[in-house]
Amino acid sequence: MMTPRILDGNAIAAQIKAEVAAEAQALAAKGVRPGLAAVLVGNVPASEIYVRNKVRTSEQLGLYSDLITPPETVTTEEMLDVVAQLNARDDIDGILIQLPLPKQVNAKRLLEAVSPEKDVDGFHPVNVGRLQTGQPALAPCTPAGMIEILKRSDIPIAGQNAVVIGRSDIVGKPISILLLQENATVTICHSKTRDLASVTRNADILVAAIGRPGFVTPEMVKPGATILDVGINRISSREEFDKYFAGDEKREQAFLLKGSTIVGDVHPEAFKVAGAYTPVPGGVGPLTIAMLMANTVRAAKLRRGLV
Ligand code: NDP
Repeated sequence: MMTPRILDGNAIAAQIKAEVAAEAQALAAKGVRPGLAAVLVGNVPASEIYVRNKVRTSEQLGLYSDLITPPETVTTEEMLDVVAQLNARDDIDGILIQLPLPKQVNAKRLLEAVSPEKDVDGFHPVNVGRLQTGQPALAPCTPAGMIEILKRSDIPIAGQNAVVIGRSDIVGKPISILLLQENATVTICHSKTRDLASVTRNADILVAAIGRPGFVTPEMVKPGATILDVGINRISSREEFDKYFAGDEKREQAFLLKGSTIVGDVHPEAFKVAGAYTPVPGGVGPLTIAMLMANTVRAAKLRRGLV
């Protein structure tokens, strides 16, 4: 068996970020500084880390960024007000509302209130519809990043059988649409799919966006396939660790030090059957922020008719 190729998401994300920084510089010469507003409600530790990374990255790339932090007790009306103000600001090109929101806030109403022009997460129904109908749109960051991984790794998409496990609005559905646009033959699977392995074994490109550790096992993979593993699952028990990583000394050291590690939706043994795959961590994950930055610059250009 050939050694599978590891698709290095960190390297590809770094490349995209360098391109974004160059574009930001070119825009600066025209007096334009793309701006990203991040709205972080309350004190969810994971959200705080994500948002801090997003703000830091925007600044590193020469974008303007503004962090807005309404309290945990904020109402839907107050949040709609925050969004309306951001929609109106000329220095803001992208609006990011970090999820999850507290339960008293109507998240759907809020996401629909974001101006589609500034919807850098690509969650607004107008952008979803534009994407679906092949019009210029801001595409959701994680799926857009997955396409970048394939293209920049010279993995053919047109005519290939692509199988997507998962049909969420954030990953499964949009990656299916993007793969279709690239002329793959796309099959979307979910929890009601019958004999999943018989479907996934046809995949030249297999996307796992399920949210279950090590779900994809070797017999589900066509030898030589490309696997994109979107899953981020934290495991902290020794038993689970051994189930996925027995014998992986580097991983074990990190696990013992931290008390936990991250496993994707694909079992490490299944990667061995693949021709190429995105590791977890360091595969699909890093692309999300990179594409958020790219979307912000794109939104700035689209809004000013510079594209
Ligand atoms: P969701 O929970 O919204 O969707 C999971 C999907 O998996 C559903 O469509 C579900 O089917 C399907 N599914 C669940 N169990 C099975 C099963 N036994 N067989 C087949 N299909 C099944 O998850 P997300 O799409 O939001 O996220 C998926 C994973 O990706 C998570 O681990 C998440 O943390 C990670 N993620 C990573 C990102 C990044 O790298 N930046 C960004 C976003 C997510 P059904 O619809 O029938 O219930």
